[in-house]
Amino acid sequence: MDLITTHLPSDMVSLLQNVGDLAERRHVGTYAVGGFVRDLLLGIPNLDLDIVVEGNGIAFARAFARKHHARVKVHERFGTATVTCADGLKLDIATARTESYKYPTALPTIEPSSVNKDLSRRDFTINTLAIRLTTRHFGELVDLYGGQQDLNTKTIRVLHNRSFVEDPTRVFRAIRFEQRLGFRLEKETTSLLNNVVKNGLIHRLSKTRLFKEFVALLSEKEPRQLLARMAKFDLLKFIHPQLKGSSELTHFLKAVERSLERYTLLNLDQPIDTWVVYWMALMDVLPTQAVRDTLHRLPFPRRQAKKLQWVGRGSTLLLRQLGKRPVPKPAQIYRTLCDLPDEALIFLMAKSQSESVKRQISAFLTTYQRIHPLLNGTDLKAMGFKPGPQFRNILEKLLDARLNGEVNTDSEERDFVRKLGQTS
Ligand code: ATP
Repeated sequence: MDLITTHLPSDMVSLLQNVGDLAERRHVGTYAVGGFVRDLLLGIPNLDLDIVVEGNGIAFARAFARKHHARVKVHERFGTATVTCADGLKLDIATARTESYKYPTALPTIEPSSVNKDLSRRDFTINTLAIRLTTRHFGELVDLYGGQQDLNTKTIRVLHNRSFVEDPTRVFRAIRFEQRLGFRLEKETTSLLNNVVKNGLIHRLSKTRLFKEFVALLSEKEPRQLLARMAKFDLLKFIHPQLKGSSELTHFLKAVERSLERYTLLNLDQPIDTWVVYWMALMDVLPTQAVRDTLHRLPFPRRQAKKLQWVGRGSTLLLRQLGKRPVPKPAQIYRTLCDLPDEALIFLMAKSQSESVKRQISAFLTTYQRIHPLLNGTDLKAMGFKPGPQFRNILEKLLDARLNGEVNTDSEERDFVRKLGQTS
């Protein structure tokens, strides 16, 4: 009880109490579970509230939404529902279930069951903790596998010997939690993990599941340490067989960290996929054919795959252009960089050894890409120019002149355009 009331914001406490009231009335055991409980005990803010109901989770979610004027989205296939309350708080409600595996690495077969069984299918002891929500038992901790002790000793431990065999994605999850929380893999867990890697079971995971794990790993706060750990367990080969831990890679990843920091300081307020930048660095140390193979083998979303076209030779050529002496003029810098997504620009900053080039890229991000001429197509028409291919040409030259500071006012732009008109 104390844990909930002392550590959570009051709207969350009332939400949990409301869930508990409904559970009490419907006579169904109901629990907060998983990462939410783990992080609550660690004092880490986590508003991803997962609820398990010993009964029909979807019916429970619908009843809760009706009573509290919330929205509900049902995922019939998984027996789960997401409830969004009027104040924006969300809860994922699931039917307690057991999973059995027809064969290792298969997707599990799911049947309704008790919370104890539900907790027994989970990955690590620290994720098996649950908090009872029914009013009479509100706030009681359920700890079936020594999860609390493992939280105290900062240990990642599987529940049984076949855990990694049943679901090898847990190999990556283990490393992710270990690094994120600053924990250590327990000894037996480490040797089980090593066995699964050696026995080649990871190859049996679908490419989609594997790719999802890589993205999750690279989306964590400190991918460099994670990748070092992956290298230690010989896991980088699942990204590509030629990918290995090396001082060159470590050096590059440090440069990526610095570039990302630099980008954050620019305050551009533009959402980026940091995992793509790390992925670019990983690909850049590979031969061209290996990059192609990786893109072909793993199910990259099209938009992200396109961003990777700049790794390798493409980026080397761009950097060479920016590194020329004398330093390129702003218009040249703009033309070199204007088609690149921000992730590629951050990657270029990391790859470049030259502070001058890094500054050019920063200037592009903060200034050049926002510069526009004062005149537009309508103004050109009013000045007597006929719309057509020439228009685009004039506007581009005008933009270049503006970027280079050759024109600054409306009348300077008009003079510039008139002169262009006379010469063309
Ligand atoms: P995160 O903060 O990364 O979301 P989380 O613990 O909430 O951490 P999820 O991936 O959202 O992780 O999973 C929710 C819960 O489901 C976990 O706490 C864990 O108990 C369970 N779980 C998820 N994936 C697996 C898996 N592959 N095997 C067993 N249990 C899993």
